[in-house]
Amino acid sequence: KLLIFIFCICSINRNNICCNQHFATPSSFSPSLKQLKLEGYLSFEELNYAAKDFGNRCHFFPLAILYPKSVLDISSTIKHVFEIGAITDLTVAARGHGHSLEGQAQAYQGLVINMESLQEPAMKFNIEELSYVDVSAGELWINILHESLKLGLAPKSWTDYLHLTVGGTLSNAGISGQAFKHGPQINNVYQLEVVTGKGEVITCSEEQNADLFHGVLGGLGQFGIITRARIALETAPKQVKWIRVLYSDFATFSNDQEDLISSQDTFDYIEGFVIINNPGLLNNWRSTFHPKDPLLASNFSSAGRVLFCLEVAKYFNPEDTDSTDKNIDILLSKLNYIQSTVFLSEVSYVEFLDRVHVSEMKLQEKGLWDVPHPWLNLLIPKSRILEFAQEVFGKILTDTSNGPILIYPVNKSKWRKGTSMVTPDEDFFYLIAFLSSATPSSTGKDGLEHIVDQNKRILSFCEKRRNGMKQYLPNHKTQEEWKHHFGPQWELFARRKSMYDPLAILAPGQRIFRRAA
Ligand code: FAD
Repeated sequence: KLLIFIFCICSINRNNICCNQHFATPSSFSPSLKQLKLEGYLSFEELNYAAKDFGNRCHFFPLAILYPKSVLDISSTIKHVFEIGAITDLTVAARGHGHSLEGQAQAYQGLVINMESLQEPAMKFNIEELSYVDVSAGELWINILHESLKLGLAPKSWTDYLHLTVGGTLSNAGISGQAFKHGPQINNVYQLEVVTGKGEVITCSEEQNADLFHGVLGGLGQFGIITRARIALETAPKQVKWIRVLYSDFATFSNDQEDLISSQDTFDYIEGFVIINNPGLLNNWRSTFHPKDPLLASNFSSAGRVLFCLEVAKYFNPEDTDSTDKNIDILLSKLNYIQSTVFLSEVSYVEFLDRVHVSEMKLQEKGLWDVPHPWLNLLIPKSRILEFAQEVFGKILTDTSNGPILIYPVNKSKWRKGTSMVTPDEDFFYLIAFLSSATPSSTGKDGLEHIVDQNKRILSFCEKRRNGMKQYLPNHKTQEEWKHHFGPQWELFARRKSMYDPLAILAPGQRIFRRAA
């Protein structure tokens, strides 16, 4: 057999950048795979796209890509890989929209399953007492939004960006500004269909095969491939009042955020972000936001300052405009932001939820979307957020940032218990997302090396202070690190792995378990 094997490794350099490029061509397992009877097909060519993700730093070429048409295609392929277990170390990665950051949806010399080509089941709505929609796990959230709005419904909990698949976000958590109220997306799913690492097709929910259901939610793709999900729906609003106010003091900002997420009468969406020395800030907002008091706002300068922006939204229907405005005035009157900095916008519900796509299109136009994204997402317990902010925004990132830095609290009591998702021990914790973009070939403050170094300093601070930080969209290199990440949950996680994917075939890009023969 001809085994052409070019192994090009850029080496894990001193920045720990995961930029290895691996190219693999026909391996000894191809013939048996080619004999599989499939409704879709396996491709051994044009593998580039499966060796790429949003992070744009890891490029592991698979052996082949499966374009499944049915759940049976997925289960028979995995069953085959499981059954030839003794003679191969083939792995399988589901690829949703490939918006991972560190190769999590890649499989070096393995099989990548293009989940977006799985079109079954067609979206099916239930609009009785309990509203829900059954969707293929390869479906993008944006498509679910558009379809459910036709019935006046919408999912309850979102991510900030909707061009992600259901299977991809449910394998993590799916956190956004609605999570304080509804929990993350993994809370808002009633039932899943899963193909395990043995190729079995299992339906699971809180009532049926609950162990698998809990394991798969936030399970980083380790226990099975989600093929179908039943997503909870609510009545959709038509319009959104979208509001930003600024703070110069972190403690005041975070106190207001915490009060808002703890109140009964509050906004429908609560987030926040950090602004570091951005003189053009208000100018950039001009196309969407209008200052409540233009004169006062014109005297406000953001240059050279670290500011904290509270971003909130209230959903409403046009007939309720007056009462919504009154309610917003009352809610804002309880907050302690800088009075001259109230910025308002009114947009449709779709425009609000799909807001990041607008930025994506602008960046795509400038060729700045497909750059390396050394993102860092952390969950910090509420009791340690002040010292974290002082160190990170006061010392590590004082004069610049390389992309948005989101920061907002969530309330764990609203989260489903028993899932694989790892959170800090406290009831309230903050999501802090450093969403950096690196300028290709730059060696300056906007270069990859500099950003990776800053990320390391942030992680090292958390480690030194033992502040109970957990990574979200975690990226760990060794099993020891993973054990530390999972803490007391590790035993259950490992037990579930040995039960549902005993050969560690699935999601090798997470680097948690090694494939067993
Ligand atoms: P992929 O990257 O394709 O896959 C992610 C992981 O899940 C891989 O390990 C893969 O093997 C596994 N997987 C994929 N599909 C399945 C399946 N059907 N069954 C089992 N395992 C599967 N996250 C948030 O929580 N909140 C946000 O607001 C948010 N905003 C984002 C904005 C942008 C611009 C980007 C790029 C990402 C954002 N994310 C956010 C992160 C995002 O939720 C995750 O990266 C998610 O995994 C991406 O979905 P995907 O479909 O691209 O998954």
